[in-house]
Amino acid sequence: MNIEDIPRRRFDALIIGAGGGGLRAALQLAEADASVAVVSKVFPTRSHTVAAQGGMNAALANVLPDNWHWHMFDTVKGSDYLGDQDAIEYMCRAAPKAVYEMEHFGVPFSRLDNGKIYQRPFGGQSQNFGGEQAARTCAAADRTGHAILHSLYQQNIRAKTHFFDEYFAVDLLKDEQGNVLGAYVFDIHSGEELIIEAKTTLLATGGAGQLFRTTTNALINTGDGMGMALRAGVPLQDMEFFQFHPTGIAGRGMLITEGARGEGGYLVNAEGERFMERYAPTAKDLASRDVVSRSIFTEVKEGRGCGPNKDHVMLKLDHLPEDVLQSRLPGIRQTCITFLGIDPADHPIPVYPTAHYTMGGIPTNRQGQVVVPVKDTPEEPVTGLYAAGECACVSVHGANRLGGNSLLDILVFGRSAANHIIQYLKENRFHKALDESVIKQAYDRLHRWDNNTGGESVDDIRRDLQKAMEDNCGVFRTQDVLDKGVEEVSKLAERLKSASITDQSELFNTARVEALELENLMDVALATVYSASARTESRGAHSRVDYAERDDKSWMRHTLYSSEDRKLDYKPVRTKPMSVASFPPKPRVY
Ligand SMILES: Cc1cc2nc3c(=O)[nH]c(=O)nc-3n(C[C@H](O)[C@H](O)[C@H](O)COP(=O)(O)OP(=O)(O)OC[C@H]3O[C@@H](n4cnc5c(N)ncnc54)[C@H](O)[C@@H]3O)c2cc1C
Repeated sequence: MNIEDIPRRRFDALIIGAGGGGLRAALQLAEADASVAVVSKVFPTRSHTVAAQGGMNAALANVLPDNWHWHMFDTVKGSDYLGDQDAIEYMCRAAPKAVYEMEHFGVPFSRLDNGKIYQRPFGGQSQNFGGEQAARTCAAADRTGHAILHSLYQQNIRAKTHFFDEYFAVDLLKDEQGNVLGAYVFDIHSGEELIIEAKTTLLATGGAGQLFRTTTNALINTGDGMGMALRAGVPLQDMEFFQFHPTGIAGRGMLITEGARGEGGYLVNAEGERFMERYAPTAKDLASRDVVSRSIFTEVKEGRGCGPNKDHVMLKLDHLPEDVLQSRLPGIRQTCITFLGIDPADHPIPVYPTAHYTMGGIPTNRQGQVVVPVKDTPEEPVTGLYAAGECACVSVHGANRLGGNSLLDILVFGRSAANHIIQYLKENRFHKALDESVIKQAYDRLHRWDNNTGGESVDDIRRDLQKAMEDNCGVFRTQDVLDKGVEEVSKLAERLKSASITDQSELFNTARVEALELENLMDVALATVYSASARTESRGAHSRVDYAERDDKSWMRHTLYSSEDRKLDYKPVRTKPMSVASFPPKPRVY
């Protein structure tokens, strides 16, 4: 098809991504009578949010005393003081409302005997209530994300949100002044291209767990929105902070929720020792994720791993009552039976850290506006462009996310971005004219995969990339290893330029989709290794053997990586909350 013949559609608001973040925003907009289009490369209810197990945090105090201020403190501490405290306060204060909203949208939360919403303890939650751990995570058994995503989808159908299911977004579109005005997309089924013009565009494309070989993330989590942002000139923030979840099924990566430890499960090494007591004497198995992952890694490295290859540890649940397993953890029990042939009711589960969550992403303020440095201003909004959910970095998770805070993040900031968009639409009633040269760039990027034969295969490069990231940007890092990571990923980026695909058809060409995904993943990988190799301290998930301490004097600042010249820049952490006193940095012990 010629570029002039590509059809165009117009909407007030475009949302790219139909996970919890995108759908929460879409619902808010549709209910405010905006015309809203949601583009998703998979059917909405297949988005990764569906896989979330353990739950979402809110200080409801249904089980033990709690309040949002404690939630805020735990989140700031969990972030290793890199989280922005205004955004954290906003999120923690909004949390109870976000849970009740979901309840009213139809999420069947598990219940206590008195009928209130059930809450379980999760990693990094305070122990200040008479020595007992707070229980802050609201769950629908161990299928919380499934319940949330399906409820939100149904609510959007009711509210008449317009869905473009199985459409792939290639790039953002702009006008000559740099205002973002929609996206260039194509229908994966027919191959037909489409220009979606919109007054505002929200990126809600999720994380980039496919950077690593062993991951809890779905195949679709390839950081597409982050790639689009980089190409549109927006830097990515704090990409060196990637979360490794302590309990993936060893060798396979599937997640065993932290809720398993929240319900009383614990980790043991080959000697049968509860080793977390040594690393985190107070919180033990419910220390925050970076701490538990490093502890498992150290046990294995020092020869106390389990199994013939001594390469994992065991998660014990077999002491828990049968009804707890059945009512609170049915999904992970089934996962173990299906994929390992063992029932956790009578056999411990082999586990090892696995790539899980992208803390960094597209920088935003707490209204979801994408912000970039302009001259002396560190955070100037990009007109028309918003981001929410795992692809964004607002930043509430800083250097380490607490379990149960992401489902909360996507709902709270999906909603707040939509509220800002509603305001913007009132003041900006007309569509602006697109810059045709930007359309041409997107068109060329897509069509470079037509008729190019004889190059290296996309699959091989993706496999090498995932191995390079796993070997050189994992749980523990050193300068040598990270520099090697920069070198290897840079070489892979060169190789990708001359890669080709063998399927040249229009209909359901998944090879082309995978090639475009790999381009995004490669840009995100470069951002990650460059940012990591420059940060000479240990903070949260970024753990340097050669710089073992946190260095607040030099490094309490956010990294910004730009694609152009692969440049690094820095900006201050927003340490001032909205209404309460700031939490100053302290040593982080659990
Ligand atoms: C196994 C697992 C369990 C988890 N458990 C929990 C938990 O218990 N509690 C918690 O708080 N967090 C949990 N998390 C984290 C949390 O689920 C995610 O961070 C969150 O759901 C991400 O939501 P999102 O809306 O940002 O993106 P996603 O749900 O990942 O959705 C991304 C959307 O973007 C679309 N998209 C992407 N690229 C394109 C493109 N190029 N074109 C068109 N569409 C595109 C996709 O189709 C999809 O609709 C878990 C994560 C995993 C992987």
